[in-house]
Amino acid sequence: MTVSNSQTVNYINPELTEAENAKPGRHVNLQYGYGPIPEQLKNKRIFFFDIDNCLYPRSTRINDMMQVKIHDYFKRNLELNDEDAHNLHMNYYKTYGLAIEGLVRNHQVDALDYNSKVDDALDLHAVLRYDKPLRDTLVTIKESHKFDFFWLITNAYKNHALRVVSFLGIGDLFDGLTYCDYSQYPIICKPMKGYFYNCFDLTRIDYNDKAAMAQQYFIDDSELNVKAAHDLGMGHVYHYVELQSDVQKLEQKPDFEEYYGKPGIKDPSKITIVTNFADLPKIIGCS
Ligand SMILES: [Mg+2]
Repeated sequence: MTVSNSQTVNYINPELTEAENAKPGRHVNLQYGYGPIPEQLKNKRIFFFDIDNCLYPRSTRINDMMQVKIHDYFKRNLELNDEDAHNLHMNYYKTYGLAIEGLVRNHQVDALDYNSKVDDALDLHAVLRYDKPLRDTLVTIKESHKFDFFWLITNAYKNHALRVVSFLGIGDLFDGLTYCDYSQYPIICKPMKGYFYNCFDLTRIDYNDKAAMAQQYFIDDSELNVKAAHDLGMGHVYHYVELQSDVQKLEQKPDFEEYYGKPGIKDPSKITIVTNFADLPKIIGCS
């Protein structure tokens, strides 16, 4: 991969042909890389975007592809049969939130080796297409000039993030990326406060400043992540829920009104559910 040493990150996806790479947004260019952004750009208004199952639909089944790779990794590296591999995988997922966390803690697995055999080995080219409508949606928001920066925020490692945005053709629309650093121990990921604090430090948002936090925007498909962001005081939190049946399930939760307000009633102080990504400009008042 082509990542320069300077703060700016440039990435050209080697899996794409020259013709494919010629389309707008195929080359990833992150002006402030992985941060930190310059100190004088403090407390700007930033739109933070989760990547997986948020910038592309769940119907790509990338998550299922990932589960197969993780299962194989458990089998091969720990020399387990299918049943034991499945049980241990589920056990670690429930206990730690990420399978890799259990592997590092209990089996001294090299997290970057795991990443190269799981996330980086996914055949994303087969399932992620250039997404012009997504690009148009993001450009509409960007051109409203309502935001100082667009920032990616993912629980994946950086390689995966760069690949995904280049396949989608949106690599030129973001100013930077916060990823989950698998090379650190313990691994800090969303929805942990430490992950968000690190991201705010890198984007120069003073998370103790209520007014600064109130002007931040965040979209994610994970209920735990949006609740954590809301609890931290981010003022505009959007929960991307693709399926109406999942919205209904969410509405049954005992803490639904506390986080989302009364069903069907707009309450800007609560989390907003987004069921169609293309509606985002309208929802936030950019179109
Ligand atoms: Mg996600």
